[in-house]
Amino acid sequence: MVKLNLIFPKSLQPADAKRRLAAQWAKARRARDPEAARARDRMRKQPVLTEEQRVMARKRTNAWRKRNPHWSSEYRAKNIDRFNELARIRHAADPGKACARQREWAYGISRADYEAMRSRQNDLCAICSNPETAIGRGGTPRLLSVDHDHATGAIRALLCVSCNTALGHMKDNPERLRAAATYLESFRR
Ligand SMILES: [Zn+2]
Repeated sequence: MVKLNLIFPKSLQPADAKRRLAAQWAKARRARDPEAARARDRMRKQPVLTEEQRVMARKRTNAWRKRNPHWSSEYRAKNIDRFNELARIRHAADPGKACARQREWAYGISRADYEAMRSRQNDLCAICSNPETAIGRGGTPRLLSVDHDHATGAIRALLCVSCNTALGHMKDNPERLRAAATYLESFRR
């Protein structure tokens, strides 16, 4: 069994980190397009639009669409091969990036945090001490999953898919898991 240090710093609790990240992104979005941000503020203050405002909003949307044609679903559908090619190139340049971003959003842990946890655990599951065997969508082995307390959102440790889903099926309930172990042992000959 690997010796684990499973205490995660308070500053990195997901709820806080998530809020901080959302604020950061909102600020960046506002800086990129202050006019749109002001329009959103107005909407928030006065959610029901007058006819005049509705026309203005439609004009703004159409103008934006003209400036950003590559964001439309039609453009994407027409050029899907190019989009896929681009995605492949981006993925090849940095295979872990998309997963890291998703992890950061979902659990509030940065890529460096995740890598630190991974090396602390020697890239082994904190329960069964085995490496991950589940295969991801790309056909390569998945990385260990971030296990978290569903009630508080606090990060626990990295687990393999099997152990992580087992905990979920047992409702994260230690009594139930102990009862299951006793049950199995009672039938052992
Ligand atoms: Zn495991």
